[in-house]
Amino acid sequence: MFADHAVIHVKAGAGGHGCVSFRREKYVPKGGPDGGNGGRGGDVIVVGDENTQTLLDFKSQHHWSAGHGFPGEGRDCTGADGKDFTLRLPPGTLIFNDATGELMLDLAPGQSHVIAKGGKGGFGNTHFKHALNQTPRNATPGEPGEEFTLRLELKLIADIGLVGMPNAGKSTLLSALTRAKPKIADYPFTTLAPQLGIAELDAERRLVIADIPGLIEGAAQGVGLGHDFLRHIERTRALVHLLDVAPLDGSDPAQNYEAIRKELAAYSTILAEKPEVIALNKMDLLPDDAARQEAVKKLRKDLRLGHDVEVVAISGATHAGIRPLLDACWRLTSAGRSPARSW
Ligand code: GDP
Ligand code: MG
Repeated sequence: MFADHAVIHVKAGAGGHGCVSFRREKYVPKGGPDGGNGGRGGDVIVVGDENTQTLLDFKSQHHWSAGHGFPGEGRDCTGADGKDFTLRLPPGTLIFNDATGELMLDLAPGQSHVIAKGGKGGFGNTHFKHALNQTPRNATPGEPGEEFTLRLELKLIADIGLVGMPNAGKSTLLSALTRAKPKIADYPFTTLAPQLGIAELDAERRLVIADIPGLIEGAAQGVGLGHDFLRHIERTRALVHLLDVAPLDGSDPAQNYEAIRKELAAYSTILAEKPEVIALNKMDLLPDDAARQEAVKKLRKDLRLGHDVEVVAISGATHAGIRPLLDACWRLTSAGRSPARSW
């Protein structure tokens, strides 16, 4: 199960009330005020926790609150502060104030931020003592804590970027890979919305895949693709380089591969250095398995690929080879992360 949005209510703790008290000691006839201040209310803190991938926990529980501050006491004792409450959220969670629609925070990995501040404690009567009033009988109440209804939206960060020539079959493959949960969302914060899909390998493992369109069409010159988009795809962990095994224009898969690699390098060195799996697509166009094996062999030879580079034969149209491709993607992206990580 996976949830990418939730609405919750957070409430910081109220401050403790100030205390009205006078010293009463055996041999001190006029003791004077000794009422302490109230403690501070606890804050509600959000933390971008990289071990959290879903907002599912926040679907079932809506109210989260921090502890109240304790009241002040006699003998000038300040009340204890309320306990802070920490919400662990997946990095990439956008936190909106539901009442105003305002974006309060775009939570970064490891970031810790007070989202609702606890109320200040009230003053005890000691605070109000001065030359003209030696016996103040007033104290102030603690302030209420901040509270908000928050709309949480998990901005998906793609694990896998899909690159290839126009017509290589990227869009078709994306919908085939993410067939179980076709979710092609609008992402308003990118100038050119990447097409995103979530491929679920099993209950625990999912990959977010982004179609990177139009790379070849002048993208290196900055046409069409905005910086937000670039930033988005540069956070992918690996690339699937999709090649049409039998392009209609009679071009050669190996040449097309080189052309895209050149384009990638010109566009972004960060992208060009990502680990990559090559998917030789439209295998359904070849007559039999022998021809398919031959095509893979020829590509490996033409590109002089080492054993460390995987070539997976697939067909986005018939879904052949889709599972091995997903497994290869998982291997490339899972190095150094726990099995359940989704990015
Ligand atoms: P994109 O430009 O890379 O997104 O490519 P599309 O997914 O739009 O596909 C381009 C063309 O190739 C379309 O006419 C698809 O129907 C066709 N196509 C895509 N995948 C396959 C495949 O696996 N086999 C065959 N025979 N055709 C495919
Ligand atoms: Mg397309």
